[in-house]
Amino acid sequence: MVDTKNQYLKIKDDVDEGIRAVLDSAAYINGKFVHDFARNLSTYLSVRHTIPCANGTDALQIAMMALDLQPGDEVITPSFTYIATTEVIALLKLTPVFVDVDAATFCIDPSAVEEAITEKTKAIVPVHLYGQAANMEEIMAIAEKHHLFVIEDNAQAIGCDYTFRDETVKKTGTIGTIGATSFYPSKNLGAFGDGGAIFTNNDTLAEKLRMIANHGQKERYYHDIVGCNSRLDSLQAAILDVKLKHLDEYIKARRKAASFYDHAFEGSKNITVPYTADYTNHVYHQYTILLKDADRNGLNKYLAEQNIPSMIYYPVPAHKQKMFSAFAGSNYQLPVSDYLSDKVISLPMHTELDEEQLQYITDHVLNFVNN
Ligand SMILES: *Cc1c(COP(=O)(O)O)cnc(C)c1O
Repeated sequence: MVDTKNQYLKIKDDVDEGIRAVLDSAAYINGKFVHDFARNLSTYLSVRHTIPCANGTDALQIAMMALDLQPGDEVITPSFTYIATTEVIALLKLTPVFVDVDAATFCIDPSAVEEAITEKTKAIVPVHLYGQAANMEEIMAIAEKHHLFVIEDNAQAIGCDYTFRDETVKKTGTIGTIGATSFYPSKNLGAFGDGGAIFTNNDTLAEKLRMIANHGQKERYYHDIVGCNSRLDSLQAAILDVKLKHLDEYIKARRKAASFYDHAFEGSKNITVPYTADYTNHVYHQYTILLKDADRNGLNKYLAEQNIPSMIYYPVPAHKQKMFSAFAGSNYQLPVSDYLSDKVISLPMHTELDEEQLQYITDHVLNFVNN
């Protein structure tokens, strides 16, 4: 699905130099490399604070810990997402309230959010799924009206732009109360190991987030609040700092591959290509198509036989996961999430796809769905 090896080879000298500099400095944890990367990422995103941490799941957890939510408080989240989004809610003894996604964008449906609000609701967690922004203008308006926090799960959309009706443009992850992202190797800004970051424009929250990620301390050995241990290591930071310089070019390469797919599938009545809402652009973490009538699992198998990877993100929506049986009984009716789980399939999407590969992939996809 990704080709991180060839991507690395193109920037090998810079990456290797970064790694060597960390080894020479012997500052494996925190220090200059982590600070430099965090500062550069803040600049790129135009956000006041970037707090690096160990992975994207921790980023979401720390974000929720910083908001002083109490057991039983309700957090509204899409059901159609990666498990990490919803799992941390339950881990913190909060109550996940699953809502449906929009049938066109596959991101959280603002009207479903509004319907799900009760007096216990404290936060909304929109997910910028597959690389395009959720409808943040409406979500922020709902949050303001009901005094709710917004935690953006930006693990799949770093670098994505959101354009508000007044033409203000902001990067996803910097719009809500707090944003969270992941540097897992296959993400659009991927490390060579685990990593994550938290974003906020609020100075007080930033200090608290930093403390929580560091055992609740500001001053060493003085622990004011209960936290955890979640660090980005210097090697990953040095690698990410090199890759950050190439992020816009990587996004362009993904868009180019997406556009090849779009053209190839134009006119195929069995394939619905990704839809991009007019308030955002798309950074194509995934290129995910919807097969209305064709055999999705059959295509998955057929492509594997042709040595073409493809993935089902996600075969089981959160409200149907055993993990959540205590929260999500049969009373949950989320038809779009259910439908998408049965119909979507993601094709190879990365920065190193060439036309020959794309032609091979699209020929085989069309061959299968048109037969
Ligand atoms: C990858 C991902 C995460 C979790 O990130 P990790 O670094 O793997 O912990 C959370 N949410 C979404 C939507 C993701 O895609």
